[in-house]
Amino acid sequence: MTNTASSLNLEPASCPICGPDAPSVVRYDFAPHKVVVCSSCGLTYLSPRLTESAILELYKDEAYYNSNISGQGYDEYMEISDNWVKTFTLRLKQIAPYKSTGKALDIGCGPGYFLTAAQKLGFDVHGLDPSDYIVTQAQKTWGDRVRLGLIESAGYEPESFDLIVAFDTFEHIYEPKQFLAAIQRVLKTGGVLAITTPDPTSLLSKISGKNWVSFKLPEHVFYWSPGTIRKILGEHFEVLEVRRAGQYATLGFLFRRLFRLGNNPGRFLNGLIGILNKFSIYSDNGSITAIARKTSP
Ligand SMILES: [Zn+2]
Repeated sequence: MTNTASSLNLEPASCPICGPDAPSVVRYDFAPHKVVVCSSCGLTYLSPRLTESAILELYKDEAYYNSNISGQGYDEYMEISDNWVKTFTLRLKQIAPYKSTGKALDIGCGPGYFLTAAQKLGFDVHGLDPSDYIVTQAQKTWGDRVRLGLIESAGYEPESFDLIVAFDTFEHIYEPKQFLAAIQRVLKTGGVLAITTPDPTSLLSKISGKNWVSFKLPEHVFYWSPGTIRKILGEHFEVLEVRRAGQYATLGFLFRRLFRLGNNPGRFLNGLIGILNKFSIYSDNGSITAIARKTSP
């Protein structure tokens, strides 16, 4: 998408916690977008941002997924998939003190890595994603356990799920209050919500400045810190815990990300990345996991 095309689809945003009148200051200028901070509560967000209809068009595209998820070939794809399953298994262990069984839903499920991890631990697993392309892929394995759409309109019955997770999804959500209200409706009373999202107050963000990998534009529209996520979750849920999060990744993935290389950086680097992909490590990626409970119907 070119800047000329996207500038036709730009809109101003405001702080969903403090309302449209709350002033903000510019933290970073990424023309035509700006990362701004709410002067009242400290929430960091993108304004102007692409309209939601324009971004949903972008997510429909196969190329979007191939530039974000898969690597050169099947081997790398499998290594990335293994790392995501390991990452989600670890996150489920962190959630286990609050919820370790029942019916689980992953919002923004992608190809279904969370479903693989949660099914191994005994959950009845379900997934939801707004991308036609990725849902078609996921349904090859998961059938009608994976639905196409958004939580606000997916048609799940009220009080359906014991656990709902949204990993690396909340930063994409345009109307966070509506999103949380929709989750609250389909979560059972006593059910648990877990959100992992990039934290703009993390050490990695502070060190990286404007080059922080999670300033991923135009997709990431809100950047939630431990303080701001507690505030917005607290309107619907009892916040149980906010902790630092990370992920397992191949050294090749980390190398490509560190140097902001695309999927095909050239023959020499591909050889090097091929070797680095044999190794994977767990690293703090500047994200947080917030765990909360629905305490009343
Ligand atoms: Zn605010």
